[in-house]
Amino acid sequence: MNELTSVQNFSESVASGDLRAALRAIGREFHSRRWSLGTSSNYSVVTGRNPLELLITASGKDKSALTDDDFVAVDSAGQLLPSHDVNGRKSSAETLLHCVIAQSRPDVGAILHTHSLWGTTLSREALKPQQTEGVIRIEGYEMLKGLEGITTHDTAVDIPVFRNSQDMVELSAQIKEALFTPDDSQPETLPPHGFLLSGHGLYTWGQTLAEARRHIEIFEFLFEVTAHQKLFERVAEAQ
Ligand SMILES: [Zn+2]
Repeated sequence: MNELTSVQNFSESVASGDLRAALRAIGREFHSRRWSLGTSSNYSVVTGRNPLELLITASGKDKSALTDDDFVAVDSAGQLLPSHDVNGRKSSAETLLHCVIAQSRPDVGAILHTHSLWGTTLSREALKPQQTEGVIRIEGYEMLKGLEGITTHDTAVDIPVFRNSQDMVELSAQIKEALFTPDDSQPETLPPHGFLLSGHGLYTWGQTLAEARRHIEIFEFLFEVTAHQKLFERVAEAQ
């Protein structure tokens, strides 16, 4: 199945309200575009708000071949919901990051995480060895308008970069503090559209699954073009 067919399947599944089919189509598309190779990445949708519930890809599943059984339902702490048939499936270690994003942003309906070549490459460059947080500034591109709320190319977006960690409790607390704690000094600033984990990958989200998917596509374009731009600049400097 090619990328276009996966995108068509995604649109049809969203229209019919079949969340698992929509997430499976995203897996096929993102795998074919090399953003979710092997068992990397995880995708979630918010299925309940009071209390919070997420449907999320189970741990260790090949994203090119997800089945309807490759998902688990979790609560706000990332724990499997006992009311759902788990049947040996486990949630990913990174489920907690999805939970923190969904909890912190009541407007968010879906969260997508990918491991792409350009996002991973850029994210490593953004952090100096002693730093735990950095930023990648992307500015002046027409494609920035694909990020919700941005209406002109004449703007700059700072994508936060955090040092990767296997301690999801600590990492999720760090990200919550850095990204989702209200900053009264900058009330006009757009809320963040996503962040990178250094040497790891991208997290982005949207009010809907379609918006989150679009944000992945836009970010991946912006990462690729920014990385190429940096390479061209270095070649020019060396000459
Ligand atoms: Zn990951």
